[in-house]
Amino acid sequence: MLDHTTSEITPRKALRVNPAKTCQPIGAMYAALGINRCLPHSHGSQGCCSYHRSHLTRHYKEPVMASTSSFTEGASVFGGSPNLRQSLKTIFQTYDPDVVAVHTTCLSETIGDDIPTIVKKASEDGIVPRGKWVIHASTPSYAGSHVTGFSNMVKGMVDYFTNKGEKKVKGQINILPGYVEPPDMRKLKSMVAEMGLTPVVFPDTSDVLDTPKTGHYEMYPPGGTKVEKLLTTGASEYTMAMGHFSSKDPAAHLELKGGVPFTLSDTPIGVQATDRFYQGIMEATGAEIPKAQLDDRGRLVDMMTDYQHYLYGKKVALWGDPDQVISLAEFMSDMGMQPVCIITGTPGKIFEKRLKAILEGKALMPVIAQKQDLFYLHQVIKKQPVDLLVGNTYGKYIARAEDTPFVRFGFPILDRAGHSYFPSVGYKGGIHLLTSIVNTLLDRQDRDAPDERFELVL
Ligand code: SF4
Repeated sequence: MLDHTTSEITPRKALRVNPAKTCQPIGAMYAALGINRCLPHSHGSQGCCSYHRSHLTRHYKEPVMASTSSFTEGASVFGGSPNLRQSLKTIFQTYDPDVVAVHTTCLSETIGDDIPTIVKKASEDGIVPRGKWVIHASTPSYAGSHVTGFSNMVKGMVDYFTNKGEKKVKGQINILPGYVEPPDMRKLKSMVAEMGLTPVVFPDTSDVLDTPKTGHYEMYPPGGTKVEKLLTTGASEYTMAMGHFSSKDPAAHLELKGGVPFTLSDTPIGVQATDRFYQGIMEATGAEIPKAQLDDRGRLVDMMTDYQHYLYGKKVALWGDPDQVISLAEFMSDMGMQPVCIITGTPGKIFEKRLKAILEGKALMPVIAQKQDLFYLHQVIKKQPVDLLVGNTYGKYIARAEDTPFVRFGFPILDRAGHSYFPSVGYKGGIHLLTSIVNTLLDRQDRDAPDERFELVL
């Protein structure tokens, strides 16, 4: 356990302890599952693929299908081309997907396998059947994080599916949701459709990783963005890209390739980020925000006011995926809370820049760090204790050591339920998030109250 973590912070360059991130292919695999009838393929050894699948399965509590090139010593020395060719042959003959989305691993990246050339040759040799697709993304895990891998795979989708010079379809817009949960993707789709627009959301893991139980196994669940839709992304009038880390590169590539202008917005978690999401779409398309959404916004603001006295001044430490954490920090500061330490394991200077811009002038500036780990966060809060921890499951050891209330949020959540069913985006998502935060703090207040202050009405 972590009872012996010290508060003295020693600079570390070569060691990460409990990093606030995981490896690129996990994000690439998650993104690929957001294409309808797509089989993610891990070009590397079996161990990587097993780990990535099981990590996603543990978070979503759903079977995650993916294939592997199954490298052994031979492939590691001579290259993985024969393995990938044989894999594609078996995959199309046995599992019949519409798309195979190949991502690399540390090993195949180090060898330097040239995936586009291998796939091109496989197509020329008739290994890839007509009408089927093999797309790819380069995802070396010694750089970036699972968020980078997600972004790279979405960029790969643009690379293979977006066409140039398409005739624009009135009212059709691309939605790049970024690395969010399946219910978030479903919610974003309905938020845009309610505005009278036609959204092409990609990737879209709703109805893939949150499917209802029917008693029948389906290798390819009904959800995911259909290839026909992906092929029209160049015909959209506009792209709303959410998250600097997970959506900026794909959106810029889409603009370059398909001539579709884009707005880059923060992940719409909380009031202000959701306002900016609607504002961006309204300005670009002239569509109006629906009254039902304005009502939800009013309810969220009402709730923030009602519970303000439980939240004001509460110190909080946050960690996780940068796009989500940036919006979450803004939301918490809007509720009067005081972020003390905000970290992400994903590298990128924009993390600090964006948070500083958002939090400037609101309160004391917190410790903000990219490429960091939970050991560091623990040391920071040893010096400056907090009232609440918000982040993924890996924080439970710190919560236990410091006896601090803990709201699980982000990826992965391996020990609680609900994250893959309730959206966090939009005004309704804000209500859900606020409920978890307030209730966690009130549970602690009840637990710690002496008999004479143990109240029925809080
Ligand atoms: S870090 Fe590299 S070697 Fe390890 S599981 Fe990820 S891809 Fe495989």
